[in-house]
Amino acid sequence: MASSSPIFRFAPSPNGRLHLGHAYSALMNERLAARLQGEMLLRIEDIDLTRCRPEFEQGILEDLAWLGISFAPEVRRQSLHFDDYRQALGRLEAAGLVYPCFCSRQEIKEAVRQREATTGIPWPRDPDGAPLYPETCRALGEAEMRRRCEAGEPHVLRLAMDRALERRAGESLSYGRFDETGAEHEIAVDPARWGDVVLARKDVPTSYHLSVVVDDALQGVSHVVRGRDLEAATDIHVLLQRLLGLPTPRYHFHQLLSDETGQKLAKSRMSRSLADLRADGMKPDAIRRQLGFT
Ligand code: GLU
Repeated sequence: MASSSPIFRFAPSPNGRLHLGHAYSALMNERLAARLQGEMLLRIEDIDLTRCRPEFEQGILEDLAWLGISFAPEVRRQSLHFDDYRQALGRLEAAGLVYPCFCSRQEIKEAVRQREATTGIPWPRDPDGAPLYPETCRALGEAEMRRRCEAGEPHVLRLAMDRALERRAGESLSYGRFDETGAEHEIAVDPARWGDVVLARKDVPTSYHLSVVVDDALQGVSHVVRGRDLEAATDIHVLLQRLLGLPTPRYHFHQLLSDETGQKLAKSRMSRSLADLRADGMKPDAIRRQLGFT
Protein backbone atom coordinates (compact mmCIF):
# COMPACT_ATOMS: atom_id res chain seq x y z
CA MET A 1 0.00 0.00 0.00
CA ALA A 2 1.47 3.35 -1.00
CA SER A 3 1.74 5.69 1.94
CA SER A 4 3.37 9.05 2.28
CA SER A 5 3.44 9.14 6.06
CA PRO A 6 6.79 8.25 7.66
CA ILE A 7 7.14 4.61 8.67
CA PHE A 8 9.16 3.59 11.73
CA ARG A 9 9.82 0.10 13.05
CA PHE A 10 10.94 -1.60 16.24
CA ALA A 11 12.67 -4.89 15.43
CA PRO A 12 13.53 -7.00 18.48
CA SER A 13 14.85 -10.57 18.37
CA PRO A 14 12.90 -13.09 20.49
CA ASN A 15 15.99 -14.71 22.00
CA GLY A 16 15.30 -13.49 25.52
CA ARG A 17 13.09 -11.09 27.46
CA LEU A 18 13.22 -7.36 26.76
CA HIS A 19 15.20 -5.16 29.15
CA LEU A 20 15.29 -1.39 29.74
CA GLY A 21 17.54 -0.89 26.70
CA HIS A 22 14.84 -2.31 24.45
CA ALA A 23 12.21 -0.21 26.20
CA TYR A 24 14.36 2.87 25.51
CA SER A 25 14.66 1.96 21.83
CA ALA A 26 10.94 1.31 21.45
CA LEU A 27 10.06 4.55 23.28
CA MET A 28 12.50 6.55 21.15
CA ASN A 29 10.82 5.12 18.04
CA GLU A 30 7.45 6.07 19.50
CA ARG A 31 8.61 9.61 20.32
CA LEU A 32 10.17 10.31 16.92
CA ALA A 33 7.27 8.69 15.05
CA ALA A 34 4.83 10.88 16.99
CA ARG A 35 6.84 14.01 16.15
CA LEU A 36 6.69 13.21 12.45
CA GLN A 37 3.16 11.81 12.63
CA GLY A 38 4.54 8.51 11.46
CA GLU A 39 3.34 4.97 11.77
CA MET A 40 5.03 2.30 13.92
CA LEU A 41 5.59 -1.25 12.76
CA LEU A 42 6.73 -4.22 14.80
CA ARG A 43 9.06 -6.77 13.25
CA ILE A 44 10.15 -9.96 14.97
CA GLU A 45 13.72 -10.76 13.92
CA ASP A 46 13.70 -14.50 14.47
CA ILE A 47 16.02 -15.91 11.80
CA ASP A 48 18.12 -17.59 14.49
CA LEU A 49 16.03 -20.73 14.72
CA THR A 50 17.99 -22.17 17.62
CA ARG A 51 17.99 -19.15 19.94
CA CYS A 52 14.59 -17.61 19.15
CA ARG A 53 11.55 -19.06 20.92
CA PRO A 54 7.79 -18.46 20.68
CA GLU A 55 7.56 -17.77 24.43
CA PHE A 56 10.04 -14.90 24.08
CA GLU A 57 8.00 -13.48 21.20
CA GLN A 58 4.91 -13.70 23.38
CA GLY A 59 6.87 -11.93 26.12
CA ILE A 60 7.86 -9.12 23.73
CA LEU A 61 4.22 -8.55 22.76
CA GLU A 62 3.18 -8.52 26.42
CA ASP A 63 5.96 -6.15 27.50
CA LEU A 64 5.27 -3.68 24.69
CA ALA A 65 1.52 -3.73 25.41
CA TRP A 66 2.25 -3.22 29.12
CA LEU A 67 4.48 -0.22 28.30
CA GLY A 68 1.55 1.14 26.28
CA ILE A 69 3.33 1.26 22.95
CA SER A 70 1.07 0.52 20.03
CA PHE A 71 2.00 -0.72 16.61
CA ALA A 72 0.25 -1.26 13.29
CA PRO A 73 -1.70 -4.53 13.61
CA GLU A 74 0.35 -6.60 11.18
CA VAL A 75 3.55 -7.97 12.69
CA ARG A 76 6.24 -9.28 10.31
CA ARG A 77 8.01 -12.45 11.44
CA GLN A 78 11.23 -12.96 9.53
CA SER A 79 11.14 -16.75 9.83
CA LEU A 80 8.00 -16.76 7.66
CA HIS A 81 9.69 -14.90 4.84
CA PHE A 82 12.79 -16.88 3.92
CA ASP A 83 11.69 -16.82 0.25
CA ASP A 84 12.04 -13.04 0.16
CA TYR A 85 15.63 -13.29 1.39
CA ARG A 86 16.37 -16.20 -0.98
CA GLN A 87 15.22 -14.06 -3.87
CA ALA A 88 17.46 -11.13 -2.90
CA LEU A 89 20.36 -13.51 -2.43
CA GLY A 90 19.69 -14.96 -5.89
CA ARG A 91 20.03 -11.51 -7.42
CA LEU A 92 23.37 -10.92 -5.73
CA GLU A 93 24.50 -14.41 -6.80
CA ALA A 94 23.48 -13.76 -10.40
CA ALA A 95 25.60 -10.60 -10.30
CA GLY A 96 28.60 -12.74 -9.26
CA LEU A 97 28.90 -11.09 -5.83
CA VAL A 98 28.41 -14.12 -3.59
CA TYR A 99 30.58 -17.14 -2.83
CA PRO A 100 30.32 -20.16 -0.53
CA CYS A 101 32.62 -20.35 2.48
CA PHE A 102 33.23 -23.68 4.21
CA CYS A 103 35.48 -22.38 7.01
CA SER A 104 34.54 -22.99 10.62
CA ARG A 105 35.04 -20.21 13.18
CA GLN A 106 38.02 -22.15 14.49
CA GLU A 107 39.60 -22.37 11.02
CA ILE A 108 39.20 -18.64 10.50
CA LYS A 109 40.81 -17.95 13.87
CA GLU A 110 43.70 -20.24 13.01
CA ALA A 111 44.22 -18.71 9.53
CA VAL A 112 44.33 -15.25 11.11
CA ARG A 113 46.73 -16.41 13.81
CA GLN A 114 49.08 -17.89 11.20
CA ARG A 115 49.07 -14.73 9.12
CA GLU A 116 49.78 -12.59 12.15
CA ALA A 117 52.62 -14.93 13.11
CA THR A 118 54.14 -14.82 9.61
CA THR A 119 53.87 -11.09 9.01
CA GLY A 120 54.19 -9.82 12.58
CA ILE A 121 51.40 -7.36 11.77
CA PRO A 122 47.99 -7.48 13.49
CA TRP A 123 45.30 -8.73 11.11
CA PRO A 124 42.63 -6.09 10.41
CA ARG A 125 39.50 -6.20 12.57
CA ASP A 126 35.97 -5.08 11.68
CA PRO A 127 34.26 -2.28 13.67
CA ASP A 128 32.90 -4.88 16.12
CA GLY A 129 36.42 -6.14 16.77
CA ALA A 130 36.20 -9.45 14.87
CA PRO A 131 39.03 -10.30 12.46
CA LEU A 132 38.13 -9.73 8.80
CA TYR A 133 37.50 -12.99 6.96
CA PRO A 134 40.87 -13.90 5.35
CA GLU A 135 39.09 -14.86 2.10
CA THR A 136 40.40 -18.43 2.30
CA CYS A 137 37.53 -19.96 0.30
CA ARG A 138 37.88 -17.47 -2.55
CA ALA A 139 40.99 -19.40 -3.58
CA LEU A 140 38.90 -22.53 -4.24
CA GLY A 141 38.14 -22.80 -7.95
CA GLU A 142 34.56 -22.68 -9.28
CA ALA A 143 34.53 -26.46 -9.83
CA GLU A 144 35.71 -27.20 -6.29
CA MET A 145 33.15 -24.80 -4.79
CA ARG A 146 30.39 -26.46 -6.77
CA ARG A 147 31.57 -29.98 -5.90
CA ARG A 148 31.58 -29.23 -2.16
CA CYS A 149 28.18 -27.48 -2.26
CA GLU A 150 26.67 -30.37 -4.21
CA ALA A 151 28.17 -32.85 -1.75
CA GLY A 152 26.13 -31.05 0.92
CA GLU A 153 29.08 -29.65 2.85
CA PRO A 154 27.79 -27.03 5.32
CA HIS A 155 28.71 -23.50 4.26
CA VAL A 156 27.78 -19.87 4.64
CA LEU A 157 27.45 -17.45 1.71
CA ARG A 158 29.65 -14.37 1.76
CA LEU A 159 29.60 -11.09 -0.13
CA ALA A 160 32.73 -10.56 -2.25
CA MET A 161 33.22 -7.04 -0.87
CA ASP A 162 35.77 -5.86 -3.45
CA ARG A 163 33.58 -6.94 -6.38
CA ALA A 164 30.51 -5.38 -4.74
CA LEU A 165 32.33 -2.07 -4.34
CA GLU A 166 33.68 -2.20 -7.91
CA ARG A 167 30.10 -2.37 -9.16
CA ARG A 168 29.43 0.89 -7.37
CA ALA A 169 32.59 2.49 -8.82
CA GLY A 170 32.31 6.25 -8.97
CA GLU A 171 29.11 6.32 -6.92
CA SER A 172 29.55 7.63 -3.42
CA LEU A 173 27.66 5.70 -0.77
CA SER A 174 25.93 7.61 1.99
CA TYR A 175 22.75 7.92 4.03
CA GLY A 176 20.84 10.66 5.79
CA ARG A 177 21.13 10.69 9.57
CA PHE A 178 18.50 12.59 11.52
CA ASP A 179 18.69 13.80 15.10
CA GLU A 180 15.97 14.33 17.66
CA THR A 181 15.19 17.78 16.34
CA GLY A 182 14.65 16.36 12.86
CA ALA A 183 17.83 17.98 11.43
CA GLU A 184 19.51 15.76 8.89
CA HIS A 185 23.11 15.22 7.79
CA GLU A 186 24.54 13.13 4.97
CA ILE A 187 26.95 10.48 6.27
CA ALA A 188 29.46 8.75 3.96
CA VAL A 189 29.87 5.01 4.52
CA ASP A 190 32.86 2.68 4.24
CA PRO A 191 31.61 -0.91 3.88
CA ALA A 192 35.11 -2.21 3.03
CA ARG A 193 35.99 -2.10 6.74
CA TRP A 194 33.69 -5.12 7.24
CA GLY A 195 35.34 -7.37 4.64
CA ASP A 196 33.45 -10.30 3.09
CA VAL A 197 30.41 -10.33 5.36
CA VAL A 198 28.07 -13.31 5.72
CA LEU A 199 24.83 -12.96 3.72
CA ALA A 200 23.42 -16.39 4.49
CA ARG A 201 24.18 -18.55 7.49
CA LYS A 202 24.72 -22.29 7.40
CA ASP A 203 21.18 -23.16 8.47
CA VAL A 204 19.06 -20.32 7.02
CA PRO A 205 19.08 -18.57 3.63
CA THR A 206 19.79 -15.16 5.16
CA SER A 207 21.71 -13.18 7.77
CA TYR A 208 20.87 -10.20 9.95
CA HIS A 209 22.28 -7.79 7.33
CA LEU A 210 20.39 -9.22 4.37
CA SER A 211 17.02 -9.63 6.09
CA VAL A 212 17.05 -6.20 7.72
CA VAL A 213 17.69 -4.55 4.35
CA VAL A 214 15.06 -6.61 2.50
CA ASP A 215 12.45 -6.08 5.24
CA ASP A 216 12.99 -2.35 5.68
CA ALA A 217 12.35 -2.03 1.93
CA LEU A 218 9.39 -4.43 1.78
CA GLN A 219 7.74 -2.76 4.78
CA GLY A 220 8.32 0.71 3.32
CA VAL A 221 10.33 1.81 6.35
CA SER A 222 11.40 5.42 5.90
CA HIS A 223 12.93 6.07 9.36
CA VAL A 224 15.13 3.60 11.22
CA VAL A 225 15.67 4.36 14.91
CA ARG A 226 18.09 1.95 16.58
CA GLY A 227 21.01 1.82 18.99
CA ARG A 228 24.52 3.15 18.33
CA ASP A 229 25.80 -0.42 18.39
CA LEU A 230 24.32 -0.79 14.89
CA GLU A 231 25.70 2.45 13.49
CA ALA A 232 28.78 0.94 11.81
CA ALA A 233 26.77 -1.97 10.34
CA THR A 234 24.68 0.60 8.48
CA ASP A 235 27.61 0.82 6.03
CA ILE A 236 26.83 -2.74 4.92
CA HIS A 237 23.12 -2.02 4.78
CA VAL A 238 23.58 0.99 2.49
CA LEU A 239 25.79 -1.05 0.15
CA LEU A 240 23.24 -3.90 0.00
CA GLN A 241 20.43 -1.40 -0.66
CA ARG A 242 22.37 0.00 -3.64
CA LEU A 243 23.24 -3.45 -4.99
CA LEU A 244 19.61 -4.57 -4.75
CA GLY A 245 18.16 -1.29 -6.02
CA LEU A 246 16.33 -0.64 -2.74
CA PRO A 247 15.70 2.76 -1.14
CA THR A 248 17.83 3.84 1.81
CA PRO A 249 15.80 4.93 4.85
CA ARG A 250 16.92 7.78 7.10
CA TYR A 251 18.67 6.65 10.28
CA HIS A 252 18.84 7.79 13.89
CA PHE A 253 21.17 6.06 16.36
CA HIS A 254 20.26 6.47 20.00
CA GLN A 255 22.45 6.12 23.07
CA LEU A 256 22.85 2.73 24.71
CA LEU A 257 21.88 2.32 28.34
CA SER A 258 24.38 0.91 30.77
CA ASP A 259 24.05 -0.67 34.20
CA GLU A 260 25.59 0.54 37.50
CA THR A 261 28.95 -0.96 36.47
CA GLY A 262 28.99 0.97 33.19
CA GLN A 263 28.37 -2.16 31.09
CA LYS A 264 25.94 -1.97 28.19
CA LEU A 265 22.59 -3.60 29.05
CA ALA A 266 22.36 -6.92 27.28
CA LYS A 267 20.35 -10.13 27.41
CA SER A 268 23.63 -12.01 27.46
CA ARG A 269 24.63 -10.28 30.73
CA MET A 270 21.30 -11.11 32.34
CA SER A 271 20.25 -7.47 32.63
CA ARG A 272 17.00 -7.26 34.57
CA SER A 273 14.07 -7.79 32.23
CA LEU A 274 10.94 -5.65 31.99
CA ALA A 275 9.07 -8.74 33.20
CA ASP A 276 11.21 -8.78 36.40
CA LEU A 277 10.60 -5.07 36.96
CA ARG A 278 6.89 -5.58 36.42
CA ALA A 279 6.87 -8.47 38.92
CA ASP A 280 8.58 -6.13 41.42
CA GLY A 281 5.62 -3.79 41.09
CA MET A 282 7.22 -1.20 38.80
CA LYS A 283 4.64 0.69 36.73
CA PRO A 284 4.95 1.55 33.01
CA ASP A 285 4.75 5.28 33.81
CA ALA A 286 7.70 4.94 36.17
CA ILE A 287 9.72 3.24 33.39
CA ARG A 288 8.86 5.99 30.95
CA ARG A 289 9.89 8.62 33.54
CA GLN A 290 13.10 6.81 34.41
CA LEU A 291 14.07 6.64 30.74
CA GLY A 292 13.23 10.30 30.12
CA PHE A 293 9.97 9.83 28.23
CA THR A 294 7.40 11.76 30.19
N1 GLU B 1 17.04 -7.24 15.81
C1 GLU B 1 18.05 -6.31 16.19
C2 GLU B 1 18.24 -6.35 17.70
O1 GLU B 1 17.39 -6.87 18.42
C3 GLU B 1 17.73 -4.88 15.78
C4 GLU B 1 17.90 -4.69 14.33
C5 GLU B 1 17.71 -3.26 13.82
O2 GLU B 1 17.11 -2.42 14.50
O3 GLU B 1 18.14 -3.02 12.71
O4 GLU B 1 19.24 -5.88 18.17
